[in-house]
Amino acid sequence: MSFIVPKEREVAQGVVIPSPVGENEDMITSNWRSKRPYMKDLDKCDMCRNCYIFCPDGCWVVDEENEVVVWNAKYCKGCLVCVTECTEKALDVADELDFEDGVVRLEKSF
Ligand code: SF4
Ligand code: SF4
Repeated sequence: MSFIVPKEREVAQGVVIPSPVGENEDMITSNWRSKRPYMKDLDKCDMCRNCYIFCPDGCWVVDEENEVVVWNAKYCKGCLVCVTECTEKALDVADELDFEDGVVRLEKSF
């Protein structure tokens, strides 16, 4: 089936953006992040890798040797998608102000 879209309603074709494969210093999060995910209960983590798969900024790294997922604070935007997608409820949310090194305490990005 085909249909005609009026010129004024045309939208640009979507694109697929590949996941980050390495660290890009241009993408470091500044001091506006107010919440962060954290590993609340490591015993509950079954290494399903949902956090690793769903994080749009590639902040979860799988440490195969130690069988844990490791969070990279530098790039986390605090969207909390990883917490939502953690079916085992191993992850939870914390306020940045709960941490001495919280980015909200910084005058500039780190
Ligand atoms: S809060 Fe968002 S950006 Fe941060 S680790 Fe989770 S999914 Fe990634
Ligand atoms: S999504 Fe949750 S259970 Fe799955 S690997 Fe990440 S922390 Fe572990």
